[in-house]
Amino acid sequence: MKDIKYAKVLCPNCNKETKKDIELRNGFKLTYFECPICSERYYDSADLRAFEEFKKLRERHFNVKLRMVGNSFSVTIPREIIDFEEKFACMEKEMDNMMRLSLEEPGKLGLYFKKLLGE
Ligand SMILES: [Zn+2]
Repeated sequence: MKDIKYAKVLCPNCNKETKKDIELRNGFKLTYFECPICSERYYDSADLRAFEEFKKLRERHFNVKLRMVGNSFSVTIPREIIDFEEKFACMEKEMDNMMRLSLEEPGKLGLYFKKLLGE
């Protein structure tokens, strides 16, 4: 049995073989097949589903409580965000349970799941 990745994808408009490539959007790798004639792009459905899920989550705003723990404060991160990150990290094969926190500007904290590039 051969994997589907060895199959040729034809453009339904031109009946011409498409070329596989990857587009980066908001840190997402979206696989697509592009037609060399009409430039139409056909995206991988699993990639699109994950990207749609991300967009929905990004539009939501969560109110979280600040709690004092010893000399520090803790915030709770909603389950949906962690679940999504775990799934995404699985796809990327790298879930790091250490996070980076930085004060980006007065009133704004940045919390990063992944290691930043160049470090
Ligand atoms: Zn075409």
